[in-house]
Amino acid sequence: MRGRLFVMTGASGVGKGTVRAKVLERTRLFYSISMTTRPPRPGERHGVDYYFVDRPAFERLIAEDGFLEYAEYVGHLYGTPKAPVERALARGEDVLLEIEVQGALQVKAKVPEAILIFLLPPSLSELKRRLVLRGQDPPEKIAKRLARAEEEIRNAHLFDYVVVNDVLEKAVGDFLAILTAERRRTPRM
Ligand code: 5GP
Repeated sequence: MRGRLFVMTGASGVGKGTVRAKVLERTRLFYSISMTTRPPRPGERHGVDYYFVDRPAFERLIAEDGFLEYAEYVGHLYGTPKAPVERALARGEDVLLEIEVQGALQVKAKVPEAILIFLLPPSLSELKRRLVLRGQDPPEKIAKRLARAEEEIRNAHLFDYVVVNDVLEKAVGDFLAILTAERRRTPRM
């Protein structure tokens, strides 16, 4: 049987990366490493956190139809290389993508059986607090990320599931419960 394609999405700063890391510790999933033109942040590693490439390299892969999805996000390109995901699904492994909202909607359009899970912050003010606390972006970038977040949250109804990331352990538990439920589904004919 082919694997299932799970897509975790939600606003920047909502804690997708933290929830994803905990989920990967507790269940077997093939995690798709994205490609980006954003420069690495301190501590980030090529081939672990992202494949960091320049714009021409990214655009070459677009021209070769090498992305399952890609999007421009606050000045940089981010995309999911298609081949590793396709190979994992064909091997019967469940795959997890952690991507922003536009990309998640592209995946749903291409792969209708993909399962989209939207991570919500408890509130916009809490999201702002987390972005400031993270201290990784200058104020103007934070303002852009927040504006984008408001727009994304308005689209939450387009997803299959919503998880509120208020208490981390609870969000991780909800996420794992969704994985379990989807894995127990009888096949759709
Ligand atoms: P960051 O710069 O904080 O690592 O990521 C910015 C946003 O891009 C986050 O919402 C993250 O989930 C999203 N992102 C990471 N990889 C991909 C990808 O392959 N495709 C898309 N569409 N978004 C991605």
